[in-house]
Amino acid sequence: MIRNTNYSIFTFLILFFTFSAACSGESKDQSEMKVTYIANTGFLVTSDTQKILIDALFYNPQINYCDIPSEEILFKMEKTQFPFDNVDLLLVTHRHVDHFNAISVAKHLKTNETCKLVCPHQVVQKIMDEYACLDSINHQIIDIALELYSTVVTTVNGIQLHVLRLPHIPFYIKDETSGEEYGRHKDIENLVYVINVGNRKILHVGDALLCMSEKCFETFHANVDLAFIGHYDITDKSIQILSTFLKPEHIIYMHLPVDDRQQIINSIKMKVPDGVIFEKTLEERTF
Ligand SMILES: [Zn+2]
Repeated sequence: MIRNTNYSIFTFLILFFTFSAACSGESKDQSEMKVTYIANTGFLVTSDTQKILIDALFYNPQINYCDIPSEEILFKMEKTQFPFDNVDLLLVTHRHVDHFNAISVAKHLKTNETCKLVCPHQVVQKIMDEYACLDSINHQIIDIALELYSTVVTTVNGIQLHVLRLPHIPFYIKDETSGEEYGRHKDIENLVYVINVGNRKILHVGDALLCMSEKCFETFHANVDLAFIGHYDITDKSIQILSTFLKPEHIIYMHLPVDDRQQIINSIKMKVPDGVIFEKTLEERTF
């Protein structure tokens, strides 16, 4: 298991510029990238040569507020059956049950011995707590332990990753005794991934809000191909961060609720007419 040291946001920006400059010197690979929706913020990304599963391996029938993978799809993911065979990389943004299930992730790793998992330390801890045969998959786990707003650059199974820890979307609740409001998710380690696959660049923010971390993006001229953003992150400020700094070719809005879905889709379409929305499990689009 690799434990990464902490990096400052300045290190991140320097490394990011270096990385962007290196990429801009190359001719853009026009090879297609296929995105398959699993559920919530879970997607399978397939390039000519690589497969990445992001936030896809979760299941809890008690979750009633967002899409969850069916039992059949979960079984295929755990057993690494087509289209979930030969996955190079599992990415998990954070430990919440609508993004990650420890046993399902462990089963996938156990079946596909060349696959690697990249995830925050809290996810590793959960696998350690829940999976009895940790020793058999330990070497496949890349443990990203970062302070808030810190970053690391790494290459895993030939896929270059820039990983940045940003705050989880706040959810304020009132303390019964003191009456004070506090952020329920303030200690959640949420990782944002910039993934370089097939010479294309994907941004997946997990449950982070762009508008909460503007400083991180204001010198971040990334020219992202595909940005996966929470459906709730459509304030003017977030849209401006996207158009000014990240310049995505396509924006995929994810984490759609079950209730009032059509209303939410309509409001996204009003603000971002080109925004892409997946609605059905195993729906595929090519970019
Ligand atoms: Zn969450």
